[in-house]
Amino acid sequence: MKRRVVIVGGGAAGMATALGLESRGVEPVIVERDTEMGGKVRNWHKLFPTFTPASEILDPLRRSIAERNIECRTGVAVETVASDGVTLAGGERMAADAVVMATGFTLFDARRKQEYGYGIYDNVVTSADLEQMMNSGRVRLADGSMPRRIAILHCVGSRDEKVCQSHCSKVCCITGVKQAIELKKMFPEADVFNFYMDIRMFGPGYEELYREAQQSYNIHFVRGRISEASPMINGRIQIKAEDTLTGRPLKMSIDMLVLMVGMRANDDNGLLAASASLDVAPNGFMQSRDPFTGAVRSPREGIFYAGAVTAPKSLADTLAEAALAADAVVDYLNRTQR
Ligand SMILES: Cc1cc2nc3c(=O)[nH]c(=O)nc-3n(C[C@H](O)[C@H](O)[C@H](O)COP(=O)(O)OP(=O)(O)OC[C@H]3O[C@@H](n4cnc5c(N)ncnc54)[C@H](O)[C@@H]3O)c2cc1C
Ligand code: SF4
Repeated sequence: MKRRVVIVGGGAAGMATALGLESRGVEPVIVERDTEMGGKVRNWHKLFPTFTPASEILDPLRRSIAERNIECRTGVAVETVASDGVTLAGGERMAADAVVMATGFTLFDARRKQEYGYGIYDNVVTSADLEQMMNSGRVRLADGSMPRRIAILHCVGSRDEKVCQSHCSKVCCITGVKQAIELKKMFPEADVFNFYMDIRMFGPGYEELYREAQQSYNIHFVRGRISEASPMINGRIQIKAEDTLTGRPLKMSIDMLVLMVGMRANDDNGLLAASASLDVAPNGFMQSRDPFTGAVRSPREGIFYAGAVTAPKSLADTLAEAALAADAVVDYLNRTQR
């Protein structure tokens, strides 16, 4: 009899972990809350740092899951976890020899930063909205015209104690650079300004892309935080900021404001953690057993983590972690042979 592992979450982390387990003779079962597999990456257009279409990464994962007949239960959330199985919404119990939590993250709700007018003024969009606009093949202002001046604001809902999100979301600086380049490719005549507190280019190829944004695309980087956005009579948006490098206050009228929303902890973490006596870090992400040697292990034997459930992460890091999680599960199953 094959050993059975329930994977909670059918995003990139969950699917990659399932494939890793299946190839080693384990029977994975994925439970996904959405009606479709793929997680957040399903909504992204092209991926940093290479501009690879997101579908080129997700489609092979989904195809392999189907070809290898990996069982996927979609449209149902997991409500409790334990090392010997999970309980689904509705009360059904699924037994397992181990459980992997790959429940990912939640996008910060930009409406909580009222000063930027998201959901109130036209042409204030989030980075996630912009990905969807690019996917639909049409990036335009609300009146159908093309933007001539665009501001991209970093750290929206990250590094911000006022909204209880003091962590850095790690991926939004490079997303801001990537989206600025995409906007310049679409609208070469437009001026694009990135407003940042610090530029964090932690991954391979990221710093190079940041330089390219400035040298080849003439994208402007302004060190300073926008304090507020307000609508103008002519339909444009006025932003107020301070350029902290020159120490000067700055007012600018723009056509579009793009808010780089942060990755915050999955809303389900509290309940899922309580059900298995797991630890949640102060920022709400699940806490690994050890940051150096136990990143994919929970403090409970038989419960593992993969992907953005433990911290903001790029897709490359998520996929690497899924492979590690599969290794750790196989190691655990071998140690606990029936
Ligand atoms: C705006 C933005 C753009 C990005 N662009 C890039 C990029 O260009 N390149 C890159 O490398 N990375 C990018 N990332 C990061 C990338 O999105 C993450 O690395 C990736 O989504 C993490 O995958 P995951 O499977 O861990 O989590 P998720 O994608 O969040 O998937 C988790 C899955 O678990 C499911 N789930 C949650 N709770 C439950 C439950 N209780 N029961 C059952 N299912 C549940 C969810 O429905 C979801 O399908 C971006 C992030 C953001 C915010
Ligand atoms: S990655 Fe950049 S934009 Fe995102 S929270 Fe960190 S510093 Fe801010």
